[in-house]
Amino acid sequence: MQIAVLGAGVIGLTSAYYLNRAGHQVIVIERHGEVATETSFGNGGQLSYSYVAPLAGPGVLSKLPAWLIRRDSPVRFRPSVSREQWLWCLKFVFACTQRRSNLTTRELLSLSFASRALMHQLLRDEPTLDFDFQHSGKLVLHRDAAAMQAAINLLNFQRSLGCEQEALSAEECVALEPALAHVRERIVGGIHTRSEDTADCHRFSKGLEAILRARGVRFAMNTCIDALEVAKGGHIVARSSDGVVEADHVVVAAGASAAQLLQPLGLHVPVYPLKGYSLTYPLGPQAVAPTLSVTDFARKVVYARLGNRLRVAGMADLDGYSLKPDPSRVAALRAEAAALFPQVVADDVDAAEWTGLRPATPQGAPVIGPTRYPNLWLNIGHGALGFTLASGSAALLTGWIDGKPDPSLARLFSLAE
Ligand SMILES: Cc1cc2nc3c(=O)[nH]c(=O)nc-3n(C[C@H](O)[C@H](O)[C@H](O)COP(=O)(O)OP(=O)(O)OC[C@H]3O[C@@H](n4cnc5c(N)ncnc54)[C@H](O)[C@@H]3O)c2cc1C
Repeated sequence: MQIAVLGAGVIGLTSAYYLNRAGHQVIVIERHGEVATETSFGNGGQLSYSYVAPLAGPGVLSKLPAWLIRRDSPVRFRPSVSREQWLWCLKFVFACTQRRSNLTTRELLSLSFASRALMHQLLRDEPTLDFDFQHSGKLVLHRDAAAMQAAINLLNFQRSLGCEQEALSAEECVALEPALAHVRERIVGGIHTRSEDTADCHRFSKGLEAILRARGVRFAMNTCIDALEVAKGGHIVARSSDGVVEADHVVVAAGASAAQLLQPLGLHVPVYPLKGYSLTYPLGPQAVAPTLSVTDFARKVVYARLGNRLRVAGMADLDGYSLKPDPSRVAALRAEAAALFPQVVADDVDAAEWTGLRPATPQGAPVIGPTRYPNLWLNIGHGALGFTLASGSAALLTGWIDGKPDPSLARLFSLAE
């Protein structure tokens, strides 16, 4: 079958890969001249298979007032007149229950474990892929006893679902990651997960593009899909300024733009942009930088070593579709990094600054599978976990199109209409 994948971010490219391997003819359509120039460009680099608990959780509502006021809070909400934004917020608030959070965590773990197995298989199958992949392990730091206790409770819950994690004292954290020695007094402990990986999502996407081209997948770059139209038999066709794209099936993998593309068809997907920032520091030979992937839980900032660079990512701003960086947010991220790894963030070191829009759903779970239109499929809404969940999501999508979706996953991520 001829399948058009709309969007060449990490989700569209992995979709194209698994569809091609299943024997389909694939064309990837992308509005930019290069792949992975939007959210898949500068993300946190975490393949964070055991850290999938959604942002919407029972502890979040009490923090909302601070998010509205403080300029340096890790999450920020700028109210607008957008109906889409208010509806998203309402659904987010309703998702902030322990029950919903546990359910989403359980569902996402099943997809992330599948993704981990597939990513490791991909590494074996495609030895030419070179994307700073490290089986780094991850250490999540906690700064107060209450947060540490909540993390231990989550660890116990996740252990019952197959996660292997251990709680460490502050001394044990420093012994494991000596680059944290100077913040020993500021942390109470951490959760260590050996099975986590880190890698560069942009390099992964570029490598996958090369593999896809070599396998005969076609790319229509600089091609913006202006509309999805209903044709004969309720089938969907994608139209660009060059005309209609010839395809039997259409897969939407348009990241944060998905809702705008689907809305004219009457498909209201709850995907809204959550803006984030990253800084990438070059590391000199003597740099005191972490080798483990580190998350500062209270500040919601992640640190990953990507070859001879340190990627620092964080901030979640609900303020619309603009990619314009807010200098105060960049400064806040820089200050966080300087406090944790001062030798990396020296005054004379230039970091590459980047802003991206997480395609976020209120509950924190992606939407993968069919729509009411027989040839239109979705692979969207991966929020802060798109790189982590890409392989499992693409394999699930491929199963759907081939009429044999993984029965343990299919039901969980379908569009509720
Ligand atoms: C600060 C930050 C840190 C993050 N850290 C991590 C992390 O550590 N680990 C992790 O797993 N995830 C992380 N994420 C999330 C991850 O980056 C995203 O979930 C993922 O990149 C989404 O991929 P995507 O392919 O859906 O979207 P994108 O990468 O945005 O790709 C969508 C593509 O569709 C194209 N497109 C859209 N509309 C059209 C159209 N009409 N016509 C043609 N083309 C179109 C766009 O140009 C774009 O190239 C982070 C995100 C941010 C912002």
